[in-house]
Amino acid sequence: MEKVKIGIIICDRYRSCAGGKCFRSLENREGAFSIYKGKEVEVVGYTTCGGCPGGNIEYAPAEMKKNGVNVIHLATGMLVGYPPCPYVDYFKRFIEEKYGIKVVVGTHPIPQKYYTTHVNLKSWESPEWETLLTPTMTDEKTRLNYD
Ligand code: SF4
Repeated sequence: MEKVKIGIIICDRYRSCAGGKCFRSLENREGAFSIYKGKEVEVVGYTTCGGCPGGNIEYAPAEMKKNGVNVIHLATGMLVGYPPCPYVDYFKRFIEEKYGIKVVVGTHPIPQKYYTTHVNLKSWESPEWETLLTPTMTDEKTRLNYD
């Protein structure tokens, strides 16, 4: 079976997060991890962005690359924090340009409670967000399972 090595970078606002939702969704191949259905996945790195404006984004991918990372995931917390991280798209483009590593925006499905608040706040109104949110938007039933 094909094995994919992934790294996860989370928003530093959630630095004490134990990764429960990310690891559950990886196990279930849900949200952004649905692309790995039928594939073996190994997590070779897990860290935070280092705090605004994301200083660790410059260095963490190098360490993950030494461990053979194939794909880096920018965690869903970057999309659902209050406010959503304004640098997500830049982080993706930087890592892909500088390190030549594929970046997927998102990890676990967006929890429904965050979805509801952001829809009410119109946080994701601009067209760029639509692309960034696609891997983790899933459906209401799945989102409720991640509340
Ligand atoms: S909002 Fe963005 S830059 Fe700030 S801590 Fe979170 S991921 Fe890092």
